[in-house]
Amino acid sequence: MPFSDILGQEKASSYLQKLVRSQKVPGALLFYGPDGVGKGLAAREFAKALNCQNPAARQMGDACGVCAACQAVAKGTHPDVTFVDFLYQARLEVKKDFSSKGYEEELEKEVAKQQHIGVDTIRDVTAKSQQKAVGGGWKVLIVDAAQTMQGAAANALLKFIEEPPARTLWILITNKRSAMLRTILSRCQPLAFAPLSQENVKQVLADTGADVPDADLCARYSAGSVSGALKAAQALELLQSGGFGTPQGPVSVAAGLSRTLVTARQEAQAVLDVLIMALHRAWTSAPDEAKQRAFQTALKRFESYKRSIGRNVSPALVLETALMSLDGLDLRIF
Ligand SMILES: [Zn+2]
Repeated sequence: MPFSDILGQEKASSYLQKLVRSQKVPGALLFYGPDGVGKGLAAREFAKALNCQNPAARQMGDACGVCAACQAVAKGTHPDVTFVDFLYQARLEVKKDFSSKGYEEELEKEVAKQQHIGVDTIRDVTAKSQQKAVGGGWKVLIVDAAQTMQGAAANALLKFIEEPPARTLWILITNKRSAMLRTILSRCQPLAFAPLSQENVKQVLADTGADVPDADLCARYSAGSVSGALKAAQALELLQSGGFGTPQGPVSVAAGLSRTLVTARQEAQAVLDVLIMALHRAWTSAPDEAKQRAFQTALKRFESYKRSIGRNVSPALVLETALMSLDGLDLRIF
């Protein structure tokens, strides 16, 4: 049953299943918690369960996963279920001035540029929310990265989530509830998603056939999130192939970053995240006070390196400096 495919979120899943059984669904839900723990998946499964054509499954509060409606939601083609994220938004943008070859490449570039769910996207989806459900089930509008909506977008959404038409449901997804407007928060029923255990992260990596060389290691640096594990895998690969811990390591790891600035910044941040986790572990297990202090000082420095990457500083330069500053600390990563 689809809900049981969502690992490590039993509490959230059982709440959603209860809503399906009772059909008493609030007009707007807020799924909050770290990235990569199943919020988007849960939103899709919930949309499936509400629209599933198999009454026996619905009575159990679940989706059958095989009927036409379930399959359409899974493929993203169900007319009553809209999943808005940066990819959706990029498609709206690229559609405007691109129609033929080079589309995929252009789309990828556009996705990498996205930072906010914008007002035009919200207008597109609020227009959809006003149309009647064609499948006779529920209209489900899912907005991912909801914390990135700024004033105009958030305001455009407000009155629609206030009192949606019958059998219309908004699901806002965020990794940072505190960054959202209070007026939006007060209109949504919150539902928490917790970080995953390392075991669950490994299980999801295995189930999805993720191409990671060392699932154990990636799970350890995942911070309880599948996307965290995938980022860590890339970062560990950069560190390993660049010869982390050797004299030429800092220059060579930094040289391994992508030539595209946006990507290089993300990669450098992921490497710093791995190093910060390793420093943290080294600090808590340091054998004496002098070592403890050394790791603690390094941790503070690394937090400031991370901040400078967010600003307009060259990510390669910051990463090289950060790696050089580890000289003499004997930090173990692998
Ligand atoms: Zn079904």
